[in-house]
Amino acid sequence: MKHYNYLIVGSGFSGLTFAERVATQCGKASLVVDRRDHLGGNAYDYYDDAGVLIHRYGPHYFRTNSPLIRDYLSQFTEWHQVNYEILSYDDGRYWNFPINLNTFEQFLGRSSTSEEMEQWLAEHRVPIESPKNSEEVIVSQVGWGLYEKFFKGYTLKQWKRDPKELDASVCGRISIRTNRDNRYLREEFQALPKEGYTRMFERMVEACGDKITLKLETDYREILSEVTFDHMIYTGAIDDYFDYCYGPLPYRSLRFEPESFTSEQLLSREKISGKKNFWQPAMQVNYPNEENFTRIVEIKHATGQECNNTTIVREYPDDYEPGKEAYYPIPAADATTLYQRYKKLADAGENVSFIGRLGTYRYYNMDQVVGMALTEFKKLEQIL
Ligand code: FAD
Ligand code: UDP
Repeated sequence: MKHYNYLIVGSGFSGLTFAERVATQCGKASLVVDRRDHLGGNAYDYYDDAGVLIHRYGPHYFRTNSPLIRDYLSQFTEWHQVNYEILSYDDGRYWNFPINLNTFEQFLGRSSTSEEMEQWLAEHRVPIESPKNSEEVIVSQVGWGLYEKFFKGYTLKQWKRDPKELDASVCGRISIRTNRDNRYLREEFQALPKEGYTRMFERMVEACGDKITLKLETDYREILSEVTFDHMIYTGAIDDYFDYCYGPLPYRSLRFEPESFTSEQLLSREKISGKKNFWQPAMQVNYPNEENFTRIVEIKHATGQECNNTTIVREYPDDYEPGKEAYYPIPAADATTLYQRYKKLADAGENVSFIGRLGTYRYYNMDQVVGMALTEFKKLEQIL
């Protein structure tokens, strides 16, 4: 029986951050187990057959307001600064998105000013003092017309729930602006790891030296009888850990459909993309209405990779059932109630911590799960 200080389930952002900290700061040994055939969790990226660096599990735009988290990760990567800009496609044309003065001008079909837009919004928004759900949070800012054009259909497709049934925080992720700021996100620091996420994760593992053992293509249950450990860090789905004893939590899954193009094939797209060797005019185009997919991502716009070929990925929301990938916890009242029951079981467990997006059933970004792992490290190292 081999003994480890920690058994870490999951080699994503949260699992590897924790392993790196305990190895380099305390000299403690971890066994990191992942059932996938690669490290990095949902942030994994790789070069596909066309030679294009793509994100396997949907676009991952790193951003943070925390200098601490940025500085922590900067030990393992340099950064490629990106202004993440996306478009929305409706009525046969592209629109600037999130809604801003440029979108407003496209809507009016003429030039305008911030003052005119503010006036227009004041006349159209629905007065709601404290929006309680994702419908209210948008109509209280822009009114019914723009909500129905850009949000209602997208949200229904993505979550298979009416925006009224989703927490305000879901659509509240999207800024509404009256200036010309086209950036999709609002955080201060917006950048991608210069050589990709996977290379950054590999450096985190290298930093651990012999204090880390990484075992891929292995469900942690398969090795429980072969090892001993002081404490488990679990970053998988919390309901899975407890064998769905209260029934499965609701999640949304996804299906990714990649398509690659050579530079010859891209010649006919130049008028649309406006750029040589690109398929579409932005790194991400959202399709809020007719199509079955929610977005098409051409990540080469963001990575800055020099490559004549390109790859686009269409993203189709999919129903979830145990056995499929649980990509999105659902921020809604019924889901939170069920999660609280699982959390009670988790809190009662003595030598296991639940962290990460699925371990805590939170619609968290990458920087937030890194923060969670750093906090858990500080907490446990005081106790253990
Ligand atoms: P994960 O990355 O999910 O890693 C958990 C790992 O545990 C997985 O590799 C899994 O295989 C493994 N595992 C689970 N159960 C077991 C088991 N029983 N045995 C062994 N291994 C197991 N965040 C951003 O900041 N910006 C973005 O633009 C962004 N875009 C996203 C787009 C999509 C489509 C999705 C799904 C997420 C996006 N995120 C984004 C969120 C981001 O992916 C997460 O915040 C982050 O990857 C969570 O890291 P984690 O370590 O908690 O979990
Ligand atoms: N959303 C929308 N229309 C859009 C983009 C987003 O209605 O064009 C809503 C939708 O409910 C989505 C949420 O805002 O799930 C958050 O969007 P984001 O792009 O942050 O989602 P993620 O990248 O996490 O899938």
